[in-house]
Amino acid sequence: MSRFFSSKYSNLEAYVPGEQPSDMDRYVKLNTNESPFPPSPKALRYAAEKTRVLNLYSDPQSQVLTQAIARTYDVEPDMVLATNGSDEALNFAFMAYTDKENPALFADITYGFYPVFAELNASPYETIPLREDFSLCVDDYIGKRGTVFIANPNAPTGVALPVSEIERLVKSDENRIVVIDEAYVDFGAQSCVSLTKKYKNLIVCQTFSKSRSFAGGRLGYAIASKEIIADLNTIKYSTNPYNINSMTSAMGIGILSDEAYTKENCNAIIENRKYTVDALKNMGFKVLPSCANFIFISSDKIDGTKLYTRLKEKGVLVRHFTKDRISNWCRVSIGSRKSMEIFITKVKEILAEAGSKEAI
Ligand code: PMP
Repeated sequence: MSRFFSSKYSNLEAYVPGEQPSDMDRYVKLNTNESPFPPSPKALRYAAEKTRVLNLYSDPQSQVLTQAIARTYDVEPDMVLATNGSDEALNFAFMAYTDKENPALFADITYGFYPVFAELNASPYETIPLREDFSLCVDDYIGKRGTVFIANPNAPTGVALPVSEIERLVKSDENRIVVIDEAYVDFGAQSCVSLTKKYKNLIVCQTFSKSRSFAGGRLGYAIASKEIIADLNTIKYSTNPYNINSMTSAMGIGILSDEAYTKENCNAIIENRKYTVDALKNMGFKVLPSCANFIFISSDKIDGTKLYTRLKEKGVLVRHFTKDRISNWCRVSIGSRKSMEIFITKVKEILAEAGSKEAI
């Protein structure tokens, strides 16, 4: 840190993204919940055609893209804000709706960026422990003052809440904002986008990074009442008016015109998840019920750090978190069938090594 860095950031601990090794080809990469599939070929062709005019700024309103998102989710275009990844939508929500009077409320085990956004915006926050089985109980939030952030499905657990529970929370106090982060919703959970037409205090954030194979393009969006979208636009125009570049915007439009491709890929991931979960359970692993493109696993036979380290040595990258409550767990992204077969083979080898060491 330089001596010039503002003291307002002296306690800020930056978010640590998963490893993106430069020698990527050496690894089976199951650590950042990316899609193993390329973006829609139809979208790539469309974007190549559309992005010849890069000497001009992109459309600050991202109108065509916004309309395409609105059509996809059957909402009005003024209920949509396109953002630079859903991280930007989440940060805008922290900027707009958290402060000393409205602290941020979120689970103790959830997306690691939430406390960073809170710190960055000098907003107090309270973490609310998940239950013993890592499930979230909305009653723990009802009656508390503050702006609620819930990842549904949650990360890194993969556990999802039904829409009826989210609705119960949203309507329990229509004077406070609830933000539902649906980054992983397309892999088997229920979306609450339709509730944004009924409740003025609900914001739903989604992304093109996971089910739509476009993490590198950085595209997300928020869906909410038009008044909330107007607030978020005020924040956007005060930070980065051209937040979506022309190439990404064209890709987004192309991707949304090829929903069959997205659906097919999601189904493949769900199938590969089942294959992986079954194989791990056969080896005695605990696997939380996942509605996401990753699973959260632990074993009595090997601790989480060791499993992560040995897998890395064997060329498979997964994610391990050092936080006490989950330090014995690893999060494994679901990739192609081939990647998951390699992962399972390596896990078997590691367990066999651990077993033979125990026997000595
Ligand atoms: N929410 C959750 C729960 C996530 O895990 C991620 C991915 N790191 C995001 C939001 C942000 O994704 P992106 O900015 O790529 O849309």
